[in-house]
Parts: sequence; structure tokens; C-alpha cells
Amino acid sequence: RRQEPTPAQILDDRARTAPTAPAYVDGEARFSFGQAASRARVLAGWLSARGVGSGDRILLMAKNGEFSATTVFAASHLGAAVVMANWRLSPAEIAYVFDDSTPVAVLYESVFEEALSQVTQIRGEFSGPLLRHGLGAADVAEYDSVQEAEAAGESTATGDANATAVVMYTSGTTGRPKGAELTGANLFWSAHGMSSSIEWEAAHRFLLAAPMFHIGGLAPLFANVLRGSTTVFVADFDPVAVWELIGTERITTMMTVPVMLAAMAQVAAAKTVDTSSLVNVTCGGSAVPTSLIDTFAHWGVEVQVVYGMTEFSGGLTYYLPSTMPSHRGSQGRPVFYSDIAVIDPDTEHRLPAGEVGEIVGDGPQRFAGYLGNAQATRDALTADGWYRTGDVGFIDDAGILTVVDRIKDMIISGGENIYPAEIEAVLLSHPAVVDAAVVGLADEKWGEVPVAFVVADPAVVDAAQLLALTGGRLARYKQPKQVEFVDTLPRNAVGKIQKGQLREH
Ligand code: ATP
Ligand code: MG
Repeated sequence: RRQEPTPAQILDDRARTAPTAPAYVDGEARFSFGQAASRARVLAGWLSARGVGSGDRILLMAKNGEFSATTVFAASHLGAAVVMANWRLSPAEIAYVFDDSTPVAVLYESVFEEALSQVTQIRGEFSGPLLRHGLGAADVAEYDSVQEAEAAGESTATGDANATAVVMYTSGTTGRPKGAELTGANLFWSAHGMSSSIEWEAAHRFLLAAPMFHIGGLAPLFANVLRGSTTVFVADFDPVAVWELIGTERITTMMTVPVMLAAMAQVAAAKTVDTSSLVNVTCGGSAVPTSLIDTFAHWGVEVQVVYGMTEFSGGLTYYLPSTMPSHRGSQGRPVFYSDIAVIDPDTEHRLPAGEVGEIVGDGPQRFAGYLGNAQATRDALTADGWYRTGDVGFIDDAGILTVVDRIKDMIISGGENIYPAEIEAVLLSHPAVVDAAVVGLADEKWGEVPVAFVVADPAVVDAAQLLALTGGRLARYKQPKQVEFVDTLPRNAVGKIQKGQLREH
């Protein structure tokens, strides 16, 4: 081979090396790597018989599970790409993903029958094959009857690692989700880079609970196959059930987003949970409160912070408390094979250590481009081809990154830059504040002023007390001009606050 392996090749190599080792646990079902490779091959044949071929896209609407994993490897056999549809979006938003990604076939789980019919009402009938996976679906009888690893170890998958293997939509935090084209090579380097940066071994039993339609859910799957670790799938996240599964499946590690970790911490504080098998958990996708790191450390579980993004096929940096104890609250060092820098967003000149600017990242994990949007791709890259994260931060003398906030969330008030994250951190430090978000609202005099949305019991804490708190800790221009109490903050599937909705409030 003269280039990186495709996902299918990685799975085939793993199946040859460790055919009987446990690959997947999905509910009651268990699959060895030999079986996993075999099922991918069979599904590839089945898709091929239905007209899916090289360069095509298949839209997948399925929960975390063996079927989703197998679909990705099957498509890789064919040189096709899988569009990982976020089934938590509204029918109108899913219709947008259909039209934007132009799939030749749709693979879906029976539970999404109703959602798909609503999509059809919005955008009309889908012209390609709609292939249903689920109990009783005749279409997949051949696929579901495959039990044994008959094909493992024989042929080796071929294919082009530079072809798009996955179309992963960004979370849509700052606008419409964009379909990032991730090649087989991107996914290989992501898996290799992440698993080299943190301890990731075959003996690991990895709980895959973060949704596979976001990069934080999907990227670890490739690392697990590359390293030979077991993936235990969770279709629907429920913190109580997750703790039970951690105990019964002897889970050693998992990927989480902060809202998941906070929900798990709450359950563990209220009842006895079995943390004995758990070595560490990875957390990222949005800022990870240091209090969560402390809570889990108390149970002997290290929280490894990952700063990553769809366009980098997963992690860009890791913060490991054990190796960087003096850098709490930072995002750590770049993953293997990648580089980070901070630039002036206007001139693209590199800024010296300690200066705040736009974070850029480079490495073989960097995506190929946004599907069908060359202009957005150009905008997302520097002249040297580094990925512009759209995040602001700084790198210290030791090369350690601290993410401050998103550029798009920055508030400019009377000519001063205000990072909402700083104000949110002060609000959240009040014990009665459960959740907080700050956005800029138009103001005649200042251009924009910060306004806070807070989830807290108004009987325990009032706006005046919160303003006194921020007044004592922040410069005057950073103080929220208004504090609004709300029941919940609008969050997406991975708990990112939809600030656009708050601005329209
Ligand atoms: P969109 O690009 O559509 O607006 P998004 O940027 O949220 O949405 P993702 O690719 O899923 O889509 O998320 C990447 C972003 O998440 C990063 O650019 C960063 O803003 C944020 N992020 C990820 N990890 C962390 C972290 N550990 N700390 C702070 N922010 C993080
Ligand atoms: Mg983004």
C-alpha cells in the first residue's frame, strides 16, 4: 500500500489479527472483529446489489449501534460515503440535509419511519432506494442472517483512502450545519492521532454513548478498531442506565460531552454506582467545567478534556490532568501528527505566545472540504491551508492551548471585546445557578451589550444578587445589562447552547 488504509482495510486488518477478539456489544448482541468484518462485507454486497457504488453517498438514519458501524465500513468497501444524519433534527432540518447531501440511497432504522414520512411531506418523495433496517424488515434478511466470520482473513479491501468516507455535518451551533467531507485518510490519522495521544489499548472497553452523527461519537469507533478495543454501543443516553452498563460491561473509558458528564455526576452523587472498572472518561465538544474534573477525580476517574471539531475529524488537542496539573482549565497539547497556532484573524499573521487570537490547526486529519460549498471551504482555511477553527484562544510558552470562546459569540460593546464565556463562568460559580448563557443584544449607545440568560430558582437568587456577583469580578463594560430567568436554555443534541435562538428571544 502506498497510502493510508481505508476504514474497511483497517477493519479487515484487525479481523485478520484478532478474529475472535470482542469488537462490538450492542444490547444482547456481541460481535467479534471477524464477525464485524464479515458483516461489513455482506452489507457492502447487499448495497452494491441495490446500485450503490464508488463516489455515491448513502444517508444513514440510525441510533448508535452495530448497524451504524457496519454501514460505515460497508460503504468504505464500495468507495461510497455515509452521511451521518442527525435524527434529532426537525423534519425540515433533515430535509435540508437530504437536499444538501444528495444521497443515492437512504438506510434507516424502523423507529425513524414516521420522521422520514414527515421529511417526504416537506421535500417530496425520495427517488432512490429507501432501505429499512429493523426487526422484521425483509430487505435486510440476508444481512441479519450472517452470523459467522466466513469472509474474515481472506480478501483485503481495496479502495482509495483519499475518497470521502463520511460526510459529517457540523453541530450547527453558529449557523446551518455544514457537511464536512472526511476521507478515509482523515479518519485513519484521527484514529491514530487520538489513540497515540492518550492511553488507548486493546484491553479497553469503550462505551460509545455520544451520538455517532457527531464527530465525537464516530471518531472513537475508528480508534477502537485500529487498536482492537471493544466498542459497547448505547442507543439512547440515560445516566442511570449508563452507570449500570459501566458496571455490567466493565467499561474502562468513554467519550462524553459536558452535559452527559454532569448528568452522570448527579446520578453518582445520589446513589451508589460501580466505578471500579472505569479508568478515565474523555469529555469535550464544549467547555468542560473544572468542577467536573474534580468530581470524577474523587472517584479515581481521570477526565481527559478533548478540544476537537468535525473539520479536524475529531480531537485537535487533549488536556490530561495527570500530566498537566498546573494547566487546569486549559485544552492542553495538540494530538499526534497535528499542529496548532494562533493567528490574527484579519492578517493571518501568527501571534506570539500568550496573545489571544484565532486558533488554527493543521495535520493529516484536516477535512477535505464542505460538500458542495467550495466558498465555505476556502473561508475555513488560511492561505497555508490550516483550518481556521473560528475559536479564540492563546498558546502559552509551554505550548499549551487555552480556548477562550467562539469568534462569532464575541460581543463588541463600545469598542471593547467581550467574551461571553468569561461572564458565564462567573454566573455559574454561584451555587444556585444551574445554567447560564450570555449573548450580545443590539444597543443604540454601545452597539451591543451583554445580556444573561440564567437557569436558577428565583426564590433563592435574584437578578440583583447576580449583578452584584459579576460587578465584583468583572470590568464594568462586561457586566450583563440584564439578567433573564428562564426554565431551560436551548441546547442541541450534544448540549451546545443555541445562542442564535437566545438572540432572537
Ligand atoms: P458549527 O460549526 O456548525 O457552528 P460546531 O462548531 O459546534 O457547529 P462541531 O464541529 O461539532 O460543530 O464543534 C466544534 C466546536 O466545538 C469547536 O470549534 C469549539 O468551538 C467547540 N469545542 C469543542 N471542544 C471544546 C472544548 N473542549 N472546549 C471548548 N470548546 C470546545
Ligand atoms: Mg464549527
